[in-house]
Amino acid sequence: AMELRRLKLTGFKSFVEPTELRIEIGLTGIVGPNGCGKSNLLEAIRWVMGESSPKSMRGGGMDDVIFAGTATRPARDFAEVSLLAVQPPGTVLPSIDLGPEGELEVVRRIERGAGSAYRANGRDVRAKDVSLIFADAATGPHSPALVSQGKIAAVIAARPAERRAMLEEAAGIAGLHVRRKDAEQK
Ligand code: ATP
Ligand code: MG
Repeated sequence: AMELRRLKLTGFKSFVEPTELRIEIGLTGIVGPNGCGKSNLLEAIRWVMGESSPKSMRGGGMDDVIFAGTATRPARDFAEVSLLAVQPPGTVLPSIDLGPEGELEVVRRIERGAGSAYRANGRDVRAKDVSLIFADAATGPHSPALVSQGKIAAVIAARPAERRAMLEEAAGIAGLHVRRKDAEQK
């Protein structure tokens, strides 16, 4: 499956200063006190993958992802999120050149009042191109691999078979069963 390697944010919600996070292989947990921005980080990943519903970003409009200012800091007029991912060997994406190791950096930028635009490995791409990249159930903005607060309880409470299905989907192997069944029928 695709591997997420690095997240960079500028002016996105509470992450007003440029912030960079390395994402290691395996399971990543985000911990911290209430209001420190844990959910905002998950939303940044969903947003750069093309999430288009302001509601799922806990906002009224898409501009609400831009740092809105505090008593001591002025609001920003843009937000930018970059996600560096490594594609599995052999991946070919229409209209996007991957790096030698399958590297793909997707950048989404929104300007207040002017909507958002995407770049993939430095080239302007359409929202549609980005949603195609992350179309896989295992990697898209609605991926079960992105577990929000509260969802943890659902994973723990699930029956073993259900939990297995959740984890397989999160690991990106759920599709394999479907494809295997497909092949068995032929
Ligand atoms: P909890 O543990 O309560 O779930 P959390 O770590 O998930 O907290 P978040 O919900 O990610 O925290 O962050 C909330 C903070 O982000 C709040 O202080 C909120 O004011 C701030 N915030 C959200 N959107 C913006 C914005 N557009 N501009 C500035 N700050 C914002
Ligand atoms: Mg939260």
